[in-house]
Amino acid sequence: MALIRRWALPLITDLRVCFALFFALAPLAACADSPEERQNNCLQITLTGTQGGPPAVNGLAGAGTLVQYGPVEDDCGQVLLQFDAGRGTTERLSQLGITVNQLDAVFLTHVHSDHTEGLAGLLQLRWHFFGDALDVVCSADVSSNRPPPQRTMSCRNLVEHTADAFIHSGEIAQRYAENNKRHADGPAGIVNFVSVGLPLPNEPGNVVWQSGDVRVSAIATAHIAGSLAYRIDTPAGSVVIGGDAGNSKPSPPRDSSTAESVESLAQGVDVLVHSVIHPVFGPGAGSRFPAPVYYRQSNAADLGALAERAKVRHLVLTHMIPTLDAESHGPFVVPGGALQAADFEAATRSSGYSGEIHVGTDLLSIRVP
Ligand SMILES: [Zn+2]
Repeated sequence: MALIRRWALPLITDLRVCFALFFALAPLAACADSPEERQNNCLQITLTGTQGGPPAVNGLAGAGTLVQYGPVEDDCGQVLLQFDAGRGTTERLSQLGITVNQLDAVFLTHVHSDHTEGLAGLLQLRWHFFGDALDVVCSADVSSNRPPPQRTMSCRNLVEHTADAFIHSGEIAQRYAENNKRHADGPAGIVNFVSVGLPLPNEPGNVVWQSGDVRVSAIATAHIAGSLAYRIDTPAGSVVIGGDAGNSKPSPPRDSSTAESVESLAQGVDVLVHSVIHPVFGPGAGSRFPAPVYYRQSNAADLGALAERAKVRHLVLTHMIPTLDAESHGPFVVPGGALQAADFEAATRSSGYSGEIHVGTDLLSIRVP
């Protein structure tokens, strides 16, 4: 069972807004927000990093998205949530004038390093300057044998040991001796780990974190064991963070490369932020990119089709594979030369998607309403 924190305040709000629904035990997500709340508040979604996978190219930061919500006069800055924390996340936040001490929570979609390797620096910095406890939300330990052999994917281990190198070097003890306002256990000591128990019901509405009017729900996806997608609902609007989600069938024949669970989570959402792979990296197209790795991502055309079916207003492509403007992606050469934003847009639009497509660059930002 997922932990739900900060429960008391939202309950009061929900009682006010949807008294009848509450007593009918309807899902809290069904409660309507008043037009006034939608107008006076805003939801801002900013890509803190758009690099697809492990390569380092053109100064891009690793995968991450900042979601902010609050009054318009506060620049939507009341609640600050970071989804994934790839390489360079702290630096991108600094470009937005945000320090890591201001974050209310970090959510991880899965434990691949391109989504997590900025976490150690983020936690170390928050610890260094006496930051409060930080909620870090991700999947509970999960066992997997795809591909064999059997192993455990443990986000808890990742988070608890994320700054162990700094402990083993002696730095943590040295800095603590200089100033014992810091937590004696080091960066992991300021983490409040929020474990999302699996299996989750395969439908929307699994609230895993809540603060005031902001509700975050999670759903399992099939990229690797323990992968999650998140939906953030606020009175100003909603956004889904799909991560690297792929279809539960690991390879064709299948209806789509996209995740069925993400499609149900994204119904009617204002913004869908999703990793994308271009068909030019598909098997047989000349890149020699490994087929299983291609198949566990969502390709551009299928993602457009999902967004159309789910009536998504804005589809934000991120974590582009291959990287924009790059002749190769790691050791894999891009057939026909580097891709541009227009190539990703065209592949996505080929599905007939009628909403807005945003091909992600670092710090691209969308505000709703
Ligand atoms: Zn990734």
